Amino acid sequence: MKYLTKGLGNDRLFGLFEEICSIPHPSGNEKGIADFVCAKAEKNGYRFIRDAADNVIVFVPGSEDKADSEPVMIQGHTDMVFVTDGEHSSKDRLSPIELKLDGKKLSAVGTSLGADDGVAVALMLAIMEDKTLVHPPLELIFTTGEEIGLLGADALDASVLKGNVMINVDSDCEGVATIGCAGGLRIGATRDYVPEKGDFAALKLSVGGLRGGHSGGEIDLGRANANRVAAEIIYGLSLTQTVKIAEMNGGKVDNAICDFCSAVIAAEDIRDAKTFIESAAEKMLPQIRKVDTDAYITAEDARAGELMPAAASKDLVTMLFVCPDGPCERMPGDRSTLLSSSNAAIVRAANGKAELAFSVRSPQAEAKKRLAGRIAALLEKFGFSCSFEGEYPGWYPKEDSKLQRLYSEEYTLQTGKKPQIISIHAGLECGIFAEKIKDLDAISIGPDNESIHSPKETLDLESFDRTCELVIRMLKKL
Ligand SMILES: [Zn+2]
Repeated sequence: MKYLTKGLGNDRLFGLFEEICSIPHPSGNEKGIADFVCAKAEKNGYRFIRDAADNVIVFVPGSEDKADSEPVMIQGHTDMVFVTDGEHSSKDRLSPIELKLDGKKLSAVGTSLGADDGVAVALMLAIMEDKTLVHPPLELIFTTGEEIGLLGADALDASVLKGNVMINVDSDCEGVATIGCAGGLRIGATRDYVPEKGDFAALKLSVGGLRGGHSGGEIDLGRANANRVAAEIIYGLSLTQTVKIAEMNGGKVDNAICDFCSAVIAAEDIRDAKTFIESAAEKMLPQIRKVDTDAYITAEDARAGELMPAAASKDLVTMLFVCPDGPCERMPGDRSTLLSSSNAAIVRAANGKAELAFSVRSPQAEAKKRLAGRIAALLEKFGFSCSFEGEYPGWYPKEDSKLQRLYSEEYTLQTGKKPQIISIHAGLECGIFAEKIKDLDAISIGPDNESIHSPKETLDLESFDRTCELVIRMLKKL
């Protein structure tokens, strides 16, 4: 194989990364890369385990003077998000990634690069292959399906692991270490009703042009939720006259802030209702547009053939109006970090059935349960039956961590700078490991890797080199 990155820094590390790029590994297709990792472990004479989910754990004995030290885990995921730009949309997700270099910045031709999280795979293999390094026994953990719901980590049998110190290499900003993340669950709710049939004059209310975004990482940016805005308007209108919902549609997925919601509503006096909506829009939009600059609220004449009865209609919009949505609690003593959040993700109403979905997040099991309980209590009050689904654990930040201290010291020695230590409000595999391994001491770090999950994904090779070097320095002291 010819290496594009040869001579640019750590040839072993960069070469391994290029080899990984030559093996297609979008989520759900990690077999090839698991084969590659196993072959490397075998060639080096190390014991490894490969499970049914294609997770691989390689056990590397400690170097001579550290053979009896406590094992240290290094972890990353083998799958990647494969996306193309418009020009390369015919590229097959099961073909090798074609690399291009701009100075010391590496990206792919027309597709995502997969440095998220190919860098972790290359880093673990580079450390495994370098017999000159000083390190404790290592448990190198390669997980699958991270990008489609942390599937590999979830399926992994952690009882084979002896360590309780873990360096996760799945972050994308050098000098920033993550020490906590949110867990979550989905609340699904339904309520059946008997529609009133006929031919009714109605209005179609549309709330759109909103930014939307990720309901974990971007929940705290003051972005409006279209479901909430629509509900607030209809609720307000229902205080002035009887309103019946013909249909309501907002949100596509649980983990996005809803950017568009429409509702067809019948009212006793349509003209009054239209005036009410226009004046509500006039009052609300200047505030919403401070963040969602392209926001709009419109009402057009429409017809409806089926209506939700007035009481059920009012319950639905009242629920959406009063329920917790957005940031809910802050970490005690740290107002910059969220303890819990809720996202009123989806609303659907038509044909005798109203449905709602909420996504609740918190790094702390208790806070998650409390918030989910509040939402469930409200749903019940408003006539919905609800269920909790897809729960995954959070990772609550440790106050005093040996690993955090070591990372900070070594990072400062290496770069002369102070690192930033943060908790994030999205899910990470560390949350799953924190649940499986008692007293887990973990951090998540990684090199500068811009625009992940996009065709613009760009890895800074110098940063990649330094990150590997930093892990090696930490291992020496562990
Ligand atoms: Zn990742």
